[in-house]
Amino acid sequence: MGVSEGEALYGAIEAGGTKFVCAIGAPDRIVQEHVIPTMQPLETMAEVVRFFQTAQQQHGALAGIGIASFGPLQLQRDSPDWGRLLKTPKPGWNAASLTEPLRAHWPAQPIEIDTDVNAAALAEASLGTPQAMRALVYVTVGTGIGAGAVVNGDPLHGRMHPEMGHIYVRRDSRDGAFEGVCPFHGDCLEGLASGPAIHRRWGSELSKLAIEHEAYPIIGSYLGQLAATIVLTLSPERIVFGGGVMSNGELLPHIRAAMREMLAGYIPPRDGEGAIEDIVVPSQLQGRAGLLGAFLLARRAVARRLTKES
Ligand code: ZN
Repeated sequence: MGVSEGEALYGAIEAGGTKFVCAIGAPDRIVQEHVIPTMQPLETMAEVVRFFQTAQQQHGALAGIGIASFGPLQLQRDSPDWGRLLKTPKPGWNAASLTEPLRAHWPAQPIEIDTDVNAAALAEASLGTPQAMRALVYVTVGTGIGAGAVVNGDPLHGRMHPEMGHIYVRRDSRDGAFEGVCPFHGDCLEGLASGPAIHRRWGSELSKLAIEHEAYPIIGSYLGQLAATIVLTLSPERIVFGGGVMSNGELLPHIRAAMREMLAGYIPPRDGEGAIEDIVVPSQLQGRAGLLGAFLLARRAVARRLTKES
């Protein structure tokens, strides 16, 4: 399937710890897609380059490339380390650059990189809702807990990028003395409520436990505290929850209930518009938020370049 003349063709990469999903096309029109298992950085990026080169021969030249990556990442544009992983426990990936191998082959095209969760927030804010959202937070609960934010239409940066998965939460009284699994903080949110933390306590994935299992209200209480904290700090219109731990849909009601209890009416959970059910929602993008976000990053980078040139 080709792309009609005049439409820009973008490259998109969702870079994860186990696989890199690469695609070309546009957010609403993916023309080719390819999954590469995550190996060492140079090998992996060589495969990415090969895919894009082959796809270009078939479909036309790329106008720009967007990368939605696992982190932590250096996102300061003026830093010599821009586009590199920061300190990561993933063997071989410390300080690895995701942008340089692409820059070597696409020297003139805009390349944009952001965290997978910031990219996913971008996708949910513009593609996942009928009306574009000014402020939206995307939370993924899986091997780790990460959150990205879009504020006034842009991914939130600053000194680096949000790392909300590592906030401290009040301990649930049913959760005893579990020490937590975060290698940095022990019992931070990720240490208590991520997939590995669930597995350590109950020997199973959450989605395989019976729905009356105590794990649901306990994990829900921690994630509800995150949701309440997000509402109090960033005042988003939506908090979108995705990731493997959310997959059977049973956790969301517990998150909403805990959030309502935490807020205690301070921020009125109105019925109808603005109700907690409308704020805390599951992802609408079927696991594609990261990849779609990468396309949006590419499109934004190209648009920025055109604005500068005109
Ligand atoms: Zn932590």
